[in-house]
Amino acid sequence: MAAYIISDLLRKIIATLKENDVSEPEVSAERILSHITGLSRADLYSATDKIILDPEIHRAKAMMERRISGEPLAYIIGECAFYNIKLRIDNRVLVPRPETEILVDEAIKRLKDIRGKKKVADIGTGSGNIAISLVFNVSDLRVIATDINRSIIELAESNAILNGVSGKINFLVGELFEPLVDYRNKFDAVISNPPYIGIDEKDNLPIEVRKYEPTEALFAGDDGLSIIRKIIEQAPEYLKQGGFLAMEIGYKQGAEAKELMSSRFGGIKIIKDYVGRDRVVIGSL
Ligand code: SAM
Ligand code: GLN
Repeated sequence: MAAYIISDLLRKIIATLKENDVSEPEVSAERILSHITGLSRADLYSATDKIILDPEIHRAKAMMERRISGEPLAYIIGECAFYNIKLRIDNRVLVPRPETEILVDEAIKRLKDIRGKKKVADIGTGSGNIAISLVFNVSDLRVIATDINRSIIELAESNAILNGVSGKINFLVGELFEPLVDYRNKFDAVISNPPYIGIDEKDNLPIEVRKYEPTEALFAGDDGLSIIRKIIEQAPEYLKQGGFLAMEIGYKQGAEAKELMSSRFGGIKIIKDYVGRDRVVIGSL
């Protein structure tokens, strides 16, 4: 039976990922081996006297091959970190992005300024990342989270249970605001990371996204704005007076999103992402 010293196998996997031009090879190798051995990422490097045996080596190599084919690490491991929570992830849902933490951060700041009980709608919840991180970090908050697909809602619900917040979120299946007919003028905020990529841009996307992530999570008409337009149009009906709409947008959509919002919303602000591109639009009723 084959065996490896864990730290040697780690180095071997990193080298193979590098040879195959996988981005951040150390992160992928560490997280794969950490997942399999139960050791922390730091402990893997000092595991110079710990042996890993055939079945585990086999699993690690199979995961490495999936990563080399371009599959996102979060799908391979089945989990990812977002803001200060942990989520189960599979190919039903978009892998939560660091950029979306900017949206969550801004929403948390604003929600904390509102006294007493608060209600938020999260449109297109996916893994539940936005809804869960909001209730996890803001007290007296209830979120109603929607998604178009029932099996996505089931995954999001399991993530709420995993994070101990399932009592604070209602998950509903349906098209945009349709499941929220009973909540007209009830929300302090509508938050969404909607699909916002134009169909024509498909071929320019990295393989991780293009080949592995769900189409319904990514694309919104020719210009990527079809869902953003609907959310801007419909959100005022569901917001309280003074409530706010905050959305993630594509980096070329800042000016147009601002323009679209200006007929109904005030105090419109664009927030930039970590590389200085427009990423979040926010405005109040
Ligand atoms: N909130 C997650 C995040 O930040 O990673 C997922 C965002 S993903 C970009 C968009 C989500 O919206 C997907 O889960 C997709 O299923 C859902 N969606 C797409 N079209 C929708 C629609 N018309 N009504 C409701 N949800 C929709
Ligand atoms: N941020 C994702 C990407 O760049 C897009 C997600 C979305 O359309 N909301 O691939």
